[in-house]
Amino acid sequence: MIDDNPMNLLREDLRDFAGYSSARSEKRSGRVWLNANEAAWPSVADGEGAVRRYPDPQPQRLRECLAELYGCAPEQLLAGRGSDEAIDLLVRGFCRPGGDSIVITPPTFGMYAVNARLHGTRIVEAPLRDTAEGFACDFAAIAEAAEREAAKLVFLCSPGNPSGTLLPLDQIEALALRLRGRAMVVVDEAYIEFADGASAVSALARQRNIAVLRTLSKAHALAAARIGSVIADAGVIAALQRCQAPYPLPTPCVNLALRALAEVPRNTTKARIATAMSEREKLLQALRAIPGVRRVYPSQANFLLARFDDPQAAFDGLLDAGVVVRDFRHAPQLGDALRISLGTPEQNAAVIEVLNRAARASCGAAA
Ligand SMILES: *Cc1c(COP(=O)(O)O)cnc(C)c1O
Repeated sequence: MIDDNPMNLLREDLRDFAGYSSARSEKRSGRVWLNANEAAWPSVADGEGAVRRYPDPQPQRLRECLAELYGCAPEQLLAGRGSDEAIDLLVRGFCRPGGDSIVITPPTFGMYAVNARLHGTRIVEAPLRDTAEGFACDFAAIAEAAEREAAKLVFLCSPGNPSGTLLPLDQIEALALRLRGRAMVVVDEAYIEFADGASAVSALARQRNIAVLRTLSKAHALAAARIGSVIADAGVIAALQRCQAPYPLPTPCVNLALRALAEVPRNTTKARIATAMSEREKLLQALRAIPGVRRVYPSQANFLLARFDDPQAAFDGLLDAGVVVRDFRHAPQLGDALRISLGTPEQNAAVIEVLNRAARASCGAAA
Protein backbone atom coordinates (compact mmCIF):
# COMPACT_ATOMS: atom_id res chain seq x y z
CA MET A 1 0.00 0.00 0.00
CA ILE A 2 1.55 3.28 -1.14
CA ASP A 3 1.36 6.10 1.38
CA ASP A 4 -0.40 8.87 -0.55
CA ASN A 5 -0.01 11.61 2.07
CA PRO A 6 1.98 14.31 0.23
CA MET A 7 3.18 15.68 3.57
CA ASN A 8 5.66 12.82 3.53
CA LEU A 9 7.27 14.30 0.41
CA LEU A 10 8.20 17.52 2.21
CA ARG A 11 11.80 18.00 3.24
CA GLU A 12 12.27 15.89 6.31
CA ASP A 13 14.21 18.63 8.10
CA LEU A 14 11.29 21.05 7.67
CA ARG A 15 8.46 18.81 8.85
CA ASP A 16 8.43 20.24 12.35
CA PHE A 17 9.62 23.71 11.26
CA ALA A 18 7.37 26.43 12.68
CA GLY A 19 8.68 29.32 10.56
CA TYR A 20 8.75 32.91 11.82
CA SER A 21 6.17 33.85 14.40
CA SER A 22 5.18 37.40 13.50
CA ALA A 23 3.36 39.80 15.80
CA ARG A 24 0.44 39.60 13.38
CA SER A 25 0.19 35.82 13.65
CA GLU A 26 -0.39 35.95 17.43
CA LYS A 27 -4.15 35.81 17.70
CA ARG A 28 -5.19 38.20 20.47
CA SER A 29 -8.03 40.59 20.95
CA GLY A 30 -7.14 44.08 22.03
CA ARG A 31 -7.95 47.74 21.53
CA VAL A 32 -4.46 49.16 21.67
CA TRP A 33 -1.89 47.38 19.55
CA LEU A 34 1.63 47.99 20.78
CA ASN A 35 3.18 44.66 19.85
CA ALA A 36 4.71 45.17 16.37
CA ASN A 37 6.74 48.39 16.55
CA GLU A 38 4.51 50.06 13.96
CA ALA A 39 4.21 53.84 13.86
CA ALA A 40 1.56 55.41 16.08
CA TRP A 41 0.67 57.88 13.28
CA PRO A 42 -0.24 57.49 9.60
CA SER A 43 2.19 58.47 6.86
CA VAL A 44 1.50 61.84 5.23
CA ALA A 45 1.02 59.87 2.00
CA ASP A 46 -1.55 57.56 3.56
CA GLY A 47 -4.71 59.53 4.42
CA GLU A 48 -6.51 57.50 7.08
CA GLY A 49 -3.58 55.18 7.67
CA ALA A 50 -4.72 52.19 5.61
CA VAL A 51 -1.17 50.84 5.44
CA ARG A 52 0.14 51.91 8.84
CA ARG A 53 0.02 48.39 10.24
CA TYR A 54 1.49 45.13 9.02
CA PRO A 55 -1.03 43.19 6.96
CA ASP A 56 -2.69 39.89 7.71
CA PRO A 57 -0.31 37.24 6.25
CA GLN A 58 -3.26 35.52 4.46
CA PRO A 59 -6.26 37.88 4.45
CA GLN A 60 -9.28 35.65 4.96
CA ARG A 61 -11.51 37.44 2.44
CA LEU A 62 -8.92 37.24 -0.31
CA ARG A 63 -8.31 33.59 0.42
CA GLU A 64 -12.06 32.88 0.28
CA CYS A 65 -12.53 34.85 -2.96
CA LEU A 66 -9.61 33.09 -4.66
CA ALA A 67 -10.76 29.67 -3.41
CA GLU A 68 -14.21 30.34 -4.79
CA LEU A 69 -12.75 31.50 -8.11
CA TYR A 70 -10.55 28.41 -8.44
CA GLY A 71 -12.98 25.84 -7.00
CA CYS A 72 -11.13 24.71 -3.88
CA ALA A 73 -11.39 25.12 -0.11
CA PRO A 74 -9.69 28.20 1.41
CA GLU A 75 -7.32 25.98 3.41
CA GLN A 76 -6.16 24.34 0.16
CA LEU A 77 -4.92 27.69 -1.16
CA LEU A 78 -1.93 29.85 -0.31
CA ALA A 79 -1.74 33.31 -1.84
CA GLY A 80 1.61 34.93 -2.45
CA ARG A 81 3.63 37.33 -4.57
CA GLY A 82 2.67 35.91 -7.91
CA SER A 83 2.92 32.26 -8.87
CA ASP A 84 6.65 33.01 -9.08
CA GLU A 85 6.73 32.95 -5.29
CA ALA A 86 4.76 29.69 -5.25
CA ILE A 87 7.37 28.05 -7.50
CA ASP A 88 10.10 29.16 -5.12
CA LEU A 89 8.19 27.88 -2.07
CA LEU A 90 7.63 24.49 -3.70
CA VAL A 91 11.30 24.09 -4.55
CA ARG A 92 12.37 25.13 -1.06
CA GLY A 93 9.72 23.04 0.67
CA PHE A 94 10.29 19.79 -1.21
CA CYS A 95 13.94 19.79 -2.30
CA ARG A 96 16.93 19.69 0.01
CA PRO A 97 19.27 22.67 -0.53
CA GLY A 98 22.15 21.49 -2.67
CA GLY A 99 20.35 18.23 -3.35
CA ASP A 100 17.34 16.51 -4.89
CA SER A 101 16.05 17.21 -8.38
CA ILE A 102 13.11 18.52 -10.36
CA VAL A 103 11.84 17.53 -13.81
CA ILE A 104 11.01 20.22 -16.37
CA THR A 105 9.77 19.93 -19.97
CA PRO A 106 11.69 22.40 -22.18
CA PRO A 107 10.89 24.61 -23.93
CA THR A 108 9.05 25.86 -20.87
CA PHE A 109 8.70 28.72 -18.41
CA GLY A 110 12.14 29.74 -17.14
CA MET A 111 11.44 30.22 -13.43
CA TYR A 112 11.34 26.50 -12.56
CA ALA A 113 15.01 26.17 -13.54
CA VAL A 114 15.94 29.54 -12.01
CA ASN A 115 14.56 28.60 -8.60
CA ALA A 116 16.07 25.12 -8.73
CA ARG A 117 19.43 26.62 -9.65
CA LEU A 118 19.30 29.15 -6.82
CA HIS A 119 18.54 26.30 -4.42
CA GLY A 120 21.30 24.03 -5.73
CA THR A 121 18.72 21.54 -6.95
CA ARG A 122 19.38 19.47 -10.07
CA ILE A 123 17.31 20.03 -13.19
CA VAL A 124 16.30 16.99 -15.22
CA GLU A 125 14.86 17.59 -18.67
CA ALA A 126 12.10 15.65 -20.43
CA PRO A 127 11.70 17.79 -23.56
CA LEU A 128 8.38 18.50 -25.23
CA ARG A 129 7.98 16.76 -28.58
CA ASP A 130 7.30 18.87 -31.65
CA THR A 131 4.43 17.07 -33.42
CA ALA A 132 2.10 17.84 -36.32
CA GLU A 133 -0.50 19.03 -33.77
CA GLY A 134 1.97 21.23 -31.88
CA PHE A 135 4.24 20.66 -28.90
CA ALA A 136 3.26 17.66 -26.78
CA CYS A 137 4.35 16.35 -23.41
CA ASP A 138 6.03 12.95 -23.41
CA PHE A 139 4.38 11.65 -20.23
CA ALA A 140 6.19 8.30 -20.33
CA ALA A 141 9.56 10.06 -20.56
CA ILE A 142 8.61 12.41 -17.72
CA ALA A 143 7.63 9.49 -15.47
CA GLU A 144 10.81 7.59 -16.31
CA ALA A 145 13.00 10.63 -15.68
CA ALA A 146 11.25 11.35 -12.37
CA GLU A 147 11.66 7.74 -11.23
CA ARG A 148 15.24 7.36 -12.43
CA GLU A 149 16.37 10.58 -10.72
CA ALA A 150 14.05 10.28 -7.69
CA ALA A 151 12.83 13.80 -8.50
CA LYS A 152 10.72 15.51 -5.85
CA LEU A 153 8.85 17.85 -8.20
CA VAL A 154 7.64 17.62 -11.79
CA PHE A 155 6.78 21.01 -13.32
CA LEU A 156 4.14 20.88 -16.04
CA CYS A 157 2.90 24.04 -17.69
CA SER A 158 -0.66 23.88 -19.07
CA PRO A 159 -1.32 25.71 -21.29
CA GLY A 160 2.41 25.78 -21.90
CA ASN A 161 4.51 28.90 -22.06
CA PRO A 162 5.77 29.23 -24.78
CA SER A 163 4.26 26.11 -26.41
CA GLY A 164 0.60 27.16 -26.06
CA THR A 165 -0.37 23.50 -25.56
CA LEU A 166 -3.04 22.44 -23.08
CA LEU A 167 -2.08 19.13 -21.47
CA PRO A 168 -4.71 16.36 -21.21
CA LEU A 169 -5.98 16.21 -17.65
CA ASP A 170 -6.33 12.42 -17.66
CA GLN A 171 -2.62 12.08 -18.46
CA ILE A 172 -1.68 14.56 -15.73
CA GLU A 173 -3.72 12.48 -13.29
CA ALA A 174 -2.17 9.24 -14.49
CA LEU A 175 1.30 10.73 -14.01
CA ALA A 176 0.40 11.84 -10.48
CA LEU A 177 -0.94 8.37 -9.72
CA ARG A 178 2.26 6.76 -10.99
CA LEU A 179 4.43 9.13 -8.92
CA ARG A 180 2.24 8.96 -5.82
CA GLY A 181 4.31 8.73 -2.66
CA ARG A 182 7.42 9.83 -4.60
CA ALA A 183 6.93 13.23 -6.24
CA MET A 184 4.60 16.22 -6.45
CA VAL A 185 3.20 17.02 -9.89
CA VAL A 186 2.99 20.81 -10.20
CA VAL A 187 0.60 22.11 -12.87
CA ASP A 188 1.25 25.75 -13.73
CA GLU A 189 -2.03 27.12 -15.07
CA ALA A 190 -1.06 30.76 -15.57
CA TYR A 191 -3.05 30.79 -18.85
CA ILE A 192 -5.86 28.30 -18.16
CA GLU A 193 -8.50 31.05 -18.36
CA PHE A 194 -7.78 31.24 -22.11
CA ALA A 195 -8.13 27.48 -22.68
CA ASP A 196 -11.03 25.15 -23.47
CA GLY A 197 -10.39 22.73 -20.69
CA ALA A 198 -10.82 22.12 -16.98
CA SER A 199 -8.31 23.05 -14.30
CA ALA A 200 -6.28 20.34 -12.59
CA VAL A 201 -7.81 21.61 -9.33
CA SER A 202 -10.62 19.17 -10.10
CA ALA A 203 -8.13 16.27 -9.89
CA LEU A 204 -6.87 17.17 -6.42
CA ALA A 205 -9.61 15.20 -4.71
CA ARG A 206 -8.28 12.02 -6.34
CA GLN A 207 -4.53 12.73 -6.51
CA ARG A 208 -3.20 14.43 -3.40
CA ASN A 209 0.28 14.87 -4.89
CA ILE A 210 -0.89 17.51 -7.36
CA ALA A 211 -0.23 21.23 -6.79
CA VAL A 212 -1.82 23.79 -9.11
CA LEU A 213 -0.49 27.30 -9.73
CA ARG A 214 -2.89 30.09 -10.62
CA THR A 215 -2.35 33.82 -11.01
CA LEU A 216 -4.18 37.13 -11.34
CA SER A 217 -1.34 38.39 -13.58
CA LYS A 218 -2.57 37.29 -16.99
CA ALA A 219 -6.35 37.00 -17.67
CA HIS A 220 -7.19 39.14 -14.63
CA ALA A 221 -4.92 41.98 -15.77
CA LEU A 222 -3.24 42.54 -12.38
CA ALA A 223 0.39 41.66 -13.10
CA ALA A 224 1.80 44.50 -11.00
CA ALA A 225 -0.33 43.58 -7.98
CA ARG A 226 1.66 40.29 -7.76
CA ILE A 227 -1.10 37.95 -6.57
CA GLY A 228 -0.63 34.29 -7.35
CA SER A 229 -1.83 31.12 -5.66
CA VAL A 230 -0.76 27.57 -5.07
CA ILE A 231 -3.58 25.08 -4.55
CA ALA A 232 -2.77 21.73 -2.97
CA ASP A 233 -3.43 19.39 -0.06
CA ALA A 234 -4.28 21.46 3.05
CA GLY A 235 -1.35 20.01 5.01
CA VAL A 236 1.09 20.91 2.23
CA ILE A 237 -0.37 24.43 2.07
CA ALA A 238 0.12 24.93 5.82
CA ALA A 239 3.72 23.71 5.51
CA LEU A 240 4.44 26.01 2.55
CA GLN A 241 3.05 28.96 4.49
CA ARG A 242 5.59 28.30 7.21
CA CYS A 243 8.31 28.73 4.55
CA GLN A 244 6.83 31.99 3.24
CA ALA A 245 7.90 35.53 4.12
CA PRO A 246 5.97 36.91 7.12
CA TYR A 247 3.86 39.53 5.27
CA PRO A 248 3.78 38.57 1.60
CA LEU A 249 0.63 40.44 0.55
CA PRO A 250 0.65 44.26 0.56
CA THR A 251 -2.72 45.65 1.66
CA PRO A 252 -3.19 47.96 -1.39
CA CYS A 253 -2.69 44.92 -3.65
CA VAL A 254 -5.11 42.81 -1.65
CA ASN A 255 -7.78 45.52 -1.80
CA LEU A 256 -7.27 45.93 -5.52
CA ALA A 257 -7.64 42.17 -6.04
CA LEU A 258 -10.82 42.09 -3.95
CA ARG A 259 -12.31 44.88 -6.06
CA ALA A 260 -11.32 43.07 -9.26
CA LEU A 261 -12.89 39.83 -8.08
CA ALA A 262 -16.23 41.46 -7.26
CA GLU A 263 -19.05 40.17 -9.46
CA VAL A 264 -19.42 42.98 -11.99
CA PRO A 265 -15.80 43.31 -13.08
CA ARG A 266 -15.60 39.54 -13.18
CA ASN A 267 -18.15 39.54 -16.00
CA THR A 268 -16.01 42.12 -17.74
CA THR A 269 -12.99 39.82 -17.38
CA LYS A 270 -14.98 37.00 -19.00
CA ALA A 271 -15.89 39.21 -21.94
CA ARG A 272 -12.28 40.33 -22.35
CA ILE A 273 -11.08 36.72 -22.34
CA ALA A 274 -13.64 35.86 -25.03
CA THR A 275 -12.38 38.76 -27.16
CA ALA A 276 -8.78 37.60 -26.68
CA MET A 277 -9.70 34.08 -27.74
CA SER A 278 -11.36 35.27 -30.95
CA GLU A 279 -8.44 37.63 -31.65
CA ARG A 280 -6.13 34.66 -31.20
CA GLU A 281 -7.86 32.74 -33.99
CA LYS A 282 -7.81 35.78 -36.32
CA LEU A 283 -4.13 36.45 -35.66
CA LEU A 284 -3.29 32.78 -36.10
CA GLN A 285 -4.92 32.64 -39.54
CA ALA A 286 -3.44 35.96 -40.63
CA LEU A 287 0.08 34.97 -39.53
CA ARG A 288 -0.17 31.66 -41.36
CA ALA A 289 -0.91 33.54 -44.59
CA ILE A 290 2.26 35.66 -44.41
CA PRO A 291 5.17 34.51 -46.63
CA GLY A 292 8.21 33.74 -44.52
CA VAL A 293 6.15 32.56 -41.55
CA ARG A 294 7.17 28.92 -41.37
CA ARG A 295 4.82 27.75 -38.71
CA VAL A 296 2.35 29.12 -36.18
CA TYR A 297 1.55 26.80 -33.31
CA PRO A 298 -2.00 26.33 -32.10
CA SER A 299 -2.44 28.13 -28.79
CA GLN A 300 -4.68 27.80 -25.76
CA ALA A 301 -3.09 30.86 -24.16
CA ASN A 302 -2.94 34.62 -24.79
CA PHE A 303 0.03 34.45 -27.16
CA LEU A 304 1.12 32.78 -30.39
CA LEU A 305 4.43 31.07 -31.01
CA ALA A 306 5.63 31.37 -34.61
CA ARG A 307 8.64 30.22 -36.60
CA PHE A 308 10.11 32.50 -39.28
CA ASP A 309 12.42 32.01 -42.24
CA ASP A 310 14.15 35.19 -41.10
CA PRO A 311 13.26 35.75 -37.44
CA GLN A 312 15.76 38.60 -37.13
CA ALA A 313 14.07 40.56 -39.93
CA ALA A 314 10.64 39.92 -38.39
CA PHE A 315 11.85 40.97 -34.93
CA ASP A 316 13.59 44.09 -36.27
CA GLY A 317 10.67 45.03 -38.53
CA LEU A 318 8.30 44.90 -35.57
CA LEU A 319 10.74 46.79 -33.38
CA ASP A 320 11.12 49.54 -36.01
CA ALA A 321 7.33 49.91 -35.87
CA GLY A 322 7.53 50.15 -32.08
CA VAL A 323 6.21 46.63 -31.44
CA VAL A 324 8.20 44.50 -28.99
CA VAL A 325 7.72 40.73 -29.12
CA ARG A 326 9.60 38.02 -27.26
CA ASP A 327 12.61 36.50 -28.96
CA PHE A 328 12.80 32.74 -28.26
CA ARG A 329 15.75 31.90 -30.48
CA HIS A 330 17.87 31.01 -27.43
CA ALA A 331 15.38 28.34 -26.29
CA PRO A 332 15.79 24.64 -27.08
CA GLN A 333 13.99 23.61 -30.30
CA LEU A 334 13.02 27.23 -30.99
CA GLY A 335 16.00 28.63 -32.92
CA ASP A 336 13.71 30.50 -35.36
CA ALA A 337 10.81 31.41 -33.08
CA LEU A 338 9.19 34.54 -31.72
CA ARG A 339 6.35 34.70 -29.20
CA ILE A 340 3.72 37.34 -29.81
CA SER A 341 1.36 38.27 -26.96
CA LEU A 342 -2.19 39.13 -27.97
CA GLY A 343 -2.80 42.84 -27.87
CA THR A 344 -5.88 44.89 -28.60
CA PRO A 345 -7.52 44.20 -31.98
CA GLU A 346 -5.79 47.33 -33.34
CA GLN A 347 -2.40 46.22 -32.07
CA ASN A 348 -2.84 42.74 -33.52
CA ALA A 349 -3.80 44.25 -36.88
CA ALA A 350 -0.65 46.37 -36.73
CA VAL A 351 1.50 43.27 -36.16
CA ILE A 352 0.01 41.66 -39.26
CA GLU A 353 0.49 44.79 -41.33
CA VAL A 354 4.13 45.20 -40.32
CA LEU A 355 4.97 41.55 -40.97
CA ASN A 356 3.21 41.62 -44.35
CA ARG A 357 5.10 44.75 -45.33
CA ALA A 358 8.41 43.18 -44.26
CA ALA A 359 7.59 40.02 -46.25
CA ARG A 360 6.80 42.06 -49.37
CA ALA A 361 10.03 44.05 -48.96
CA SER A 362 12.15 40.89 -48.68
CA CYS A 363 10.36 39.37 -51.73
CA GLY A 364 11.18 42.57 -53.63
CA ALA A 365 14.80 42.39 -52.47
CA ALA A 366 15.08 38.75 -53.56
CA ALA A 367 13.60 39.45 -57.01
C1 LIG B 1 3.57 34.67 -16.34
C2 LIG B 1 3.79 33.31 -15.83
C3 LIG B 1 3.91 33.05 -14.46
C4 LIG B 1 4.14 34.16 -13.48
O1 LIG B 1 3.01 34.54 -12.89
P1 LIG B 1 3.04 35.57 -11.69
O2 LIG B 1 1.82 35.14 -10.95
O3 LIG B 1 2.96 36.92 -12.27
O4 LIG B 1 4.29 35.36 -10.88
C5 LIG B 1 3.96 31.76 -14.01
N1 LIG B 1 3.98 30.74 -14.89
C6 LIG B 1 3.92 30.94 -16.20
C7 LIG B 1 3.95 29.79 -17.12
C8 LIG B 1 3.85 32.23 -16.71
O5 LIG B 1 3.87 32.43 -18.03
